[in-house]
Order: sequence, then structure tokens, then C-alpha cells
Amino acid sequence: MSSLRPSPIAPTVDFDKDGVQHGFLRLPYSRDDSAWGSVMIPICVIRNGTGPTALLSGGNHGDEYEGPLALYDLARTLDPKQVNGSVIIVPAMNYPAFRAGTRTSPIDKGNMNRSFPGRPDGTVTEKIADYFQRELLPRADIVFDFHSGGKTLDFVPFCAAHTLPDKALEQKAFDAVAAFSAPFSMRMIEIDSVGMYDTAAEEMGKVFVSTELGGGGTSRAQTVRIARRGILNVLRHAGIVDGAIETGRTQWLDMPSGDCFSFAEEDGMIETMIDLGDPIEKGAVLARIHSVGRTGIAPQELRAKMSGMLAARHFPGLVKAGDCAAVVAVEAEG
Ligand SMILES: [Zn+2]
Repeated sequence: MSSLRPSPIAPTVDFDKDGVQHGFLRLPYSRDDSAWGSVMIPICVIRNGTGPTALLSGGNHGDEYEGPLALYDLARTLDPKQVNGSVIIVPAMNYPAFRAGTRTSPIDKGNMNRSFPGRPDGTVTEKIADYFQRELLPRADIVFDFHSGGKTLDFVPFCAAHTLPDKALEQKAFDAVAAFSAPFSMRMIEIDSVGMYDTAAEEMGKVFVSTELGGGGTSRAQTVRIARRGILNVLRHAGIVDGAIETGRTQWLDMPSGDCFSFAEEDGMIETMIDLGDPIEKGAVLARIHSVGRTGIAPQELRAKMSGMLAARHFPGLVKAGDCAAVVAVEAEG
């Protein structure tokens, strides 16, 4: 790591200065329409003294909106007098993707959450990941990264942390999930954890908490309220913001194995047979995929590989072979 060149990103904020600063992570990106131009990634630092640091991000995927809606709002409204320590807010982490309204970057097709640890001499997406890896994550005591389903998935609203080999770290993360007080709280496994921001933070020993709050490439009044209340709750739980946690009822969910996931094996038109949050028995039909090229073809049936409830579903009406069609989770004790 020490042999890596410095990041090309220049922050216009001073992370060690008290007060509120609204600035940018300026990433040089010279191109046809802007010689010597830069990508200007918004960042806000709210600091009051030497207490713990929270690193908050949205827009890791550019088509997910609850995080950016909560975090631009928090950056505008959080009073440093309420803060003990630092809150670093990057509301649109993959800013080129966020501006394009797409999951991945239109510049390099980079999926931010598969680009860690990044490279200082890599693509634009890799340069942003590298800056988080080497400059921002090391400053943080708690890391919170908002996600929703984007254009292609829709989730029941949950806050989540991962089951980890380090049980003390895992417990700290689940305590923060409980403080967030989403309608659902998830103990999550990943199908593909290599390159994730989550993994980078957890390998550094940071408390890492995430969400999936709805989806479909938009936001809802309810899920934005959950995001705004939840992030303040987590900051209060961490002792960084004054005030009492606004608790709400939460249902814990587990994703115990890869059997949670169902993938389409054919192209076609998807018919989800139950709605988000509905119960399902093992072996029951979760979704049918109808061939559309001709009439007279029986639909492919996707059956639940375990009993539980429908936690996520494919959002658009058309699917391709390989698309994640449904995710089943199991209701669990808190
Ligand atoms: Zn996401």
C-alpha cells in the first residue's frame, strides 16, 4: 500500500477544522468537453471537537435516492453545536453515476461497490474508491452507506449489517442497526463481497451499517422519512449527535444462505406471485417468467428454496436470464 502514489483527489474542505464546511472532492478528469476539467463530488464536514467520526454516504449506486435525500438534508440542517466529534457527509459517492441516474458510472461503467480498494491511477470510479479507502475510511469510527434497490430491484425497507468473523465488531454493527429503527433489520450475507465498500470498511475494523430502502429508481415518502429519522438515530447512538433515539418497532430478518436468492433462467415477462413482505412456504411459486416470443408456452416457475417472507423482488416487468428475481428472508428474534 505504501508504494501507491498519492490520490489525485484534492478536497476543498479541512477535516480538522471545527464548524460546517460545504465543499468538494475535486477529481481531475480532462476530457473533450472540459480540458483540465474536474469531477466535483460534493462533501460536507460538520465538526465540533475531537470526538468520534461518522462517515455517511449515499449514491454509491447512482439510481438510489433515499440516501442522497436524507444526506443533502442532513448536511444543510445539522447544527455543529449538536455535534460531538465529526460528521463527514458524501451524499452522492459515485457522483458521475448519480448525475446520470444510473447504477454505474457513465464515464467508465464502474460499479462503485465492486471497485474497492480502488486505484489512484485507475478509472474515475477506482480513483474515488481509492480516496475512500486511504483517506476517508481511516478517519471514521462508524461508516454508514445508504442503498436502495435502484431501477431493477425493490426491497422492504431495512437497515442491515453483516454477520462477521469478528463477533465484537458484528455486535456493534447490529446495535447501530437497531438504533436506526427501520421497519425491518437485516442480518445480511453477500453473494459477491469482493470489491465492496462494506468489505473494505469491515476489513479495516470499522463499524459498517447499510440499508436497502425501497427501490425502483425512485423514492417514497415513507422510505425517505425512515432514512432521515434513522441516520439521526445512528448518530445519536454513536454519541456524535445530542438527543434521544426515536425508537420504532422493527422486525429482524436473517438471510441464512444462498438459498435466499432466486435468479431468472430465461428471458421474459415476470409475474411476481406474492408482494413484498408477504409470507412464502418452501416450494411455493415465488414468480413466473412468461415467454413472450410466441403464445402457447408454459411459464417458467421460480419456487422458494426456503420458507420466509419476500424481502426483495425484480422491479421492471421484463427480466433477462441471470437477473435476481426474488430474495426471501427469514423472520428472526432481535
Ligand atoms: Zn445500491
